[in-house]
Amino acid sequence: MPPEIPAPPLRLVLDSEALSDNWRTLNRLSGSARAGAAVKADGYGLGARRVTKALVEAGCRDFFVAYSSEAAALSEITAPETLSILHGPLSADDAAYIKAAGFRPVINSLAQAKRWLNTGGGACDLMVDTGINRLGLPMAELGDPLIARLQVQVLMSHLASADEDGPQNMLQCSRWNEARALVSAREASLANSAGIMLGSAFHGDLTRPGLSLYGGWQRDELASRIRQVVVPQVMVLQVREIAAGDGVGYNATFVAAKPMRVGVVALGYADGYLRAWSNRGILLHRNLRLPVLGKISMDMTVVDLTLAPDLREGDWLNVAYALPEAEAASGIGQYELLTLLGRRFTR
Ligand SMILES: *Cc1c(COP(=O)(O)O)cnc(C)c1O
Repeated sequence: MPPEIPAPPLRLVLDSEALSDNWRTLNRLSGSARAGAAVKADGYGLGARRVTKALVEAGCRDFFVAYSSEAAALSEITAPETLSILHGPLSADDAAYIKAAGFRPVINSLAQAKRWLNTGGGACDLMVDTGINRLGLPMAELGDPLIARLQVQVLMSHLASADEDGPQNMLQCSRWNEARALVSAREASLANSAGIMLGSAFHGDLTRPGLSLYGGWQRDELASRIRQVVVPQVMVLQVREIAAGDGVGYNATFVAAKPMRVGVVALGYADGYLRAWSNRGILLHRNLRLPVLGKISMDMTVVDLTLAPDLREGDWLNVAYALPEAEAASGIGQYELLTLLGRRFTR
C-alpha cells in the first residue's frame, strides 16, 4: 500500500461550539419564531455537512440550500422535509427528483408552481417578491389559481436592505403581510440574520439566518452577541533572514528598512486570500499580530516574524479573519470572505 496522502499545510478550524451558540442566540433573538439556517453554497464555504451536523445537534430543524444537489449532500444528516430548496424546481426532471427525495422546493414563479403540481405536488414553500426583484412570485400573481392549489408550508419573502435603517424594510414587511392574507400557508418567514434585529414584526414563525451563524454581522446590535466561528490556519513553510533594502514578493511592494526575520506561509489568493490583503493582512501567533509583507502570491504569503523570534518552519499561524474586522481591513464583504475560502483548506 502507498503511504497516506499528506495533509495540506492549511486548514479551516471550525468552532462548532461557537456555531451552535450563534444559532441559539439567533433563535432566542427570533422571539416566538424559531431560527432555521441558510447552509447554501457549502455552508457559506465552511463545509455544509459539518455545519448542518452541528446545527442539527443544537436543535435546528429548518435548512435552506439553493439547489437540489446541495440538499442531496445533506440528506443523511437531516430529514428530507427539513431541507428547503431556495431556487425551486429548475426543470421537470429537477421537480421529479425533489419530489422523489422528499425535499421541499421553494416555488418562485407560476412556471415553477406548474412544474411542481405536474409531479403531483406536495408540501412546498412559496417565495413572494416584496421588492428585491430577484427570485420570487410577483405580488400581482398571488391570486392565480395555480397558487391556490399549492400546499404551502412556509410563505416567505426576502429583505433587500435589512442591514440598513431605511423605508424599504417596513415596505417589504407590509407587502409580506398582505401576501399572508392572500395565501393559505401554515407558516411565514421573512428575516435573514440582520432582519432578526428589526423586531418582532419581522419574525413570523421562522427566521433564516446565514451570515451570523458563521460569525458575521452587519448590525451593531449583534456585535457583542455573535462569536467568531472560523479560523484559517496556515503552516510556516520557510523562515528567511532579509537585509535592509531587500524587497518582498512580486514588484517588491514591501522593502525592508532594517534586517528582518520573515516567514513564508502556505496561503495565497488561490486559497481565497485575495491580493486585497497585500501589505494589510495580519497573522496571529498567540496574541501577537504579525503583518503581511508585500503582495499575496497564488500559494504563498510572507509575514513579518520580528515579534515572534521563536517561530520555526512547520509551526502554524492563525489568520486574522474575524469577519467584521476583516471586511474593514480588506474591503472584501463578509459573505465573500467566507465563500472565497478555497478547496485546499482541509475542513
Ligand atoms: C442566503 C439567504 C438567507 C440568509 O441570509 P443572511 O444574510 O446570510 O443571514 C436567508 N434567506 C434567503 C432567501 C437567502 O437566500
